[in-house]
Parts: sequence; structure tokens; C-alpha cells
Amino acid sequence: MEHYQVAIIGSGPAGFTAAIYSSRALLNTILFEGMQPGGQLSITTEVENFPGFPEGIQGPELMELFRKQAQRFGTETRFETIRKVDFSVRPFHLWAEEDKEYTADSVIIATGASARRLHAKGEDKFWGFGISACATCDGFFYKNQKVYVVGGGDSAMEEALYLTHFASSVTIIHRRKEFRASKIMLKRAQEHPKIDFLLDSVIEEFLGTEKMGIRKLTSIRVRNVVTGEEQILPADGVFYAIGHTPNTEIFKPFIETDSNGYIITKGKSSYTNVPGVFACGDCQDSTYRQAVSAAGSGCIAAIDAERWLSENV
Ligand code: NAP
Repeated sequence: MEHYQVAIIGSGPAGFTAAIYSSRALLNTILFEGMQPGGQLSITTEVENFPGFPEGIQGPELMELFRKQAQRFGTETRFETIRKVDFSVRPFHLWAEEDKEYTADSVIIATGASARRLHAKGEDKFWGFGISACATCDGFFYKNQKVYVVGGGDSAMEEALYLTHFASSVTIIHRRKEFRASKIMLKRAQEHPKIDFLLDSVIEEFLGTEKMGIRKLTSIRVRNVVTGEEQILPADGVFYAIGHTPNTEIFKPFIETDSNGYIITKGKSSYTNVPGVFACGDCQDSTYRQAVSAAGSGCIAAIDAERWLSENV
């Protein structure tokens, strides 16, 4: 069984920043990359608001730089997903795939959040066959096709704008008239000739064909939530941009979360209710959720862990 002073679970900006600080403090550090190495930025295109990159940088490239920087100072990174933890004993226990067990004096949770689902009729059937939560990953497959983006936040605007490079038309379906998106992103989408909007509307059903096991989305049934009117619209692809759910399920037996599952941290710190376990990034931040704020909280978590270790272990 391998033992580390600091085990970091998650590989987004929060996890890697925690790793950079932890290994530069000469703490024996392991980072588990999880199911989506590089976190949400690894499925993003252009990042324009991360300081230090005046011309912008591609999300995957930025995450590769984070990884290299952490490894340079000695962080061990593993392409493993932590499936189970026991925070009731010290050192803490963590289990990856195939029951591979690790122990750690302190743990930094940086597991981020995952794309939400609509759970509409036909969603499971056409997931991956017309429905996607990642335009960057799948937009390429929709050249000259008719696609939809669900949501009214910055992600919806970003996904829609990205999809205009491929699709013949992009319709943003949003369940109300007001938008969460920042004004600049909304304006860009509104002014784009390929993008139009279907407001006060929700998708009720995904419809399509299935031949010899090959499924193909062909249309969606959409309901206007104000009038109750329904219509069936031709659709080749639907991209979800309806927010995220924090990846905190495995910690819930030990770690306090709010009603939405976000880990509760104490004051300005990264302390959770379990001494020696810290949380940073989107798994504990439902407000700011930016790469740079996640990175900042990763720094806080590593400093908290270092101080806690020097006093308690
Ligand atoms: P978000 O701001 O929470 O927006 C989610 C959208 O999905 C909302 O419009 C919401 O509608 C809608 N929605 C949620 N559940 C739904 C459901 N079941 N059915 C239909 N619609 C549903 O999430 P986000 O757009 O992913 O953005 C998250 C954070 O990342 C934000 O802080 C954002 O600014 C940031 N971000 C920044 C950039 C950038 O600057 N380049 C890009 C992407 C994201 P309601 O409004 O009605 O609740």
C-alpha cells in the first residue's frame, strides 16, 4: 500500500495548483486525475480570461502546462479514479480502481463538477447519438447540420458560438426569457447570423430512428412553458449547457455538503468538517466557478494542508 503526505483527488486547475504548492513545499504528493483528466478545461476551446495569456490559450493546452508544472516539482500523477474513501481513520484511506489502496496524512478534494442532464424522454436512448454535453468534443460531427444548445448561461453562449463553425444553424433553447449569461457573451450570440433563440421552451422528448442498432436523432418535441404549445422540430444534434453537479458523492458519508452537494468549507479556508481533509475548486464553489478562482482555492488548500500537517502529523 502506497502512502503519501498529501493525496489530491482531481486534476482541474484547483487540483493541479494544490499539487504545485504542495510539492514545492516538499510534501510527498500524489494527484489522482480521475475520469476527466484536466477537468472541465480539457473539454473547452479558447480560454480568454486566464491571466497571463493575453492572446488566450486552448483549455487542453493550459491543463497540460498545469500538469507539467506540478510534475516538475515532484507531484506523482496517476490516471486513476478514486472510488471510495475512509476519512474516519488516520492516515486516511483511498481506493482506486480494482481496489488499489492508498493512505494519506491529508487529502485535498478537487473533484469539480459534472454536466447536468435534462432527463427528458428519449435522452438515454440518444445520448451519444445526437445528444452531447461537449461541443468541443462533438461539434465536428455536425457539419452543415441543424443543432440546438440548451441553457441560458455563459456555457450555452460559448457552445453555440463554437458550433457555428460547423453547423448550418444553431438554436439556443432556454426555459425562460432572462439569461444568466454575461452581457458580452449573450451579445455575441445574439449578433451571430447563424444563431437564433427559442425562449420559454423546454425539450420534452428526443425522437429518432434505430436501424441495425445504429441510433440517430432526427427531431425534438419542444414545449412552450408559457402557452403550453408543443412542436416537433427537426434536429441533428442537441448540446447541453445546463450547469453542473458537484462530484462529491463518495465523500458524503464523511464530509458535510450543502443541499446541492457542494462541500462546505470553513470561512475563507479550505477546511472541511474532517480535520486533515480540505476542499477546493468547483466541488465547493457554486458561485464563482472560474478556472482562476479554482486555481486560487487550490493554492489555499495546499497551504492549509501544509500548515495542518506541520501541526498535527
Ligand atoms: P449556469 O450559469 O448555471 O447556467 C445554466 C443554465 O442552464 C441556466 O440558464 C439555467 O436556466 C439552465 N438550466 C439549468 N437546469 C436546467 C434544466 N433542467 N432545464 C433547462 N435549463 C436548465 O451554468 P454555465 O453556463 O455552465 O456557467 C457556469 C459558470 O461558468 C458561470 O459562472 C459562467 O459565467 C462560467 N463560464 C464562463 C465562460 C467564459 O467566460 N468563457 C464560459 C462558460 C462558463 P435558469 O437560468 O432558468 O436557471
